[in-house]
Amino acid sequence: MNENNSFALVPRLPGAVEKVEPGAKRVLSGMVADTLATANREQARKTQPPRIVIVDDAEGTRGFYKLLLKNWFKEATLQEFENSDDAWKELSQTDPDLLITRVPTSGRFLLPLLAERKVKYPILVTSAFFSEEEVRQRAALNLNVSFLPLPFTAQQFYRELLIHLGPATIPQMAQILTREFELKWRLGARAGDLVAKGASQFVSRITVSNGENEIDAKEQWAFAGLGDHTGWMAKLTSASLRDPSISPSQIDSSPFDMGCGDSIKVSAEGPDAAAAMEALTELFTCGDRVEHCNNPDCSSKPCLVSYSKEHISYSCYKGHTWTVPRTEKFGR
Ligand SMILES: [Zn+2]
Repeated sequence: MNENNSFALVPRLPGAVEKVEPGAKRVLSGMVADTLATANREQARKTQPPRIVIVDDAEGTRGFYKLLLKNWFKEATLQEFENSDDAWKELSQTDPDLLITRVPTSGRFLLPLLAERKVKYPILVTSAFFSEEEVRQRAALNLNVSFLPLPFTAQQFYRELLIHLGPATIPQMAQILTREFELKWRLGARAGDLVAKGASQFVSRITVSNGENEIDAKEQWAFAGLGDHTGWMAKLTSASLRDPSISPSQIDSSPFDMGCGDSIKVSAEGPDAAAAMEALTELFTCGDRVEHCNNPDCSSKPCLVSYSKEHISYSCYKGHTWTVPRTEKFGR
């Protein structure tokens, strides 16, 4: 695919626009026509750039959509409409891959019309006046509607694109970063909770691997299986069968657990991969190594519970908890 034949928005041809669809600013990517001419429909469906219709009477917002779409897609075919009557002329004929529409926009209300047409494509509704609830009340249940309140952030918008149209086709937006960490504490359910909360702030796909398993870092429950309950129960069961005198606390300190000194690999893929990796680096490198519970008689390994600029808190599986002042500077 020719990189210079880039985003459909760049070669703007307003003259040609008027001929195709009066009232609509129509910009077609030449690639679409080429693809359709040389490939069968099914192949074209997979390889052609997404066709996106924008209906918004504010030029500023349309500009914001276009900028973000341009950052995400190497190629896309966009059609802009300032009012929904013009948009309906197009939408009543053909289905885009995504419709972005602000409510209210001058002209008739599109959602009931689209519901009647039983469209299946995703519809991203934005609004500064209506809440998500109000929009959903007006949208029929059969519509694939998602909502963003105006103003929204680039991250929120990218999340919608990721959900509805898949990963970015701009390489910088789809960057993959990986980094290995030596754990300073046990990666238990509590620490997994922190990782999941941290990771969930980002659009990028983030995974954590211990060499054997790879899990979605945004899924809190996954961590329970990685280092704790599932593995622990299996070990306890098999060890107890071999030697009934083995107690859970001995299994608890099994070297097979993900604990201090173990390596994990974090991978982030997406538009905010760098920021995500920075945040997770902050988490995985905070504080000093903690190998033992602060109760000298306890063999349970410490788990990170929380951290702030000033303090880091740990607990062991026997319920001992303690907090230490944070000596490292926040961020590095
Ligand atoms: Zn303890």
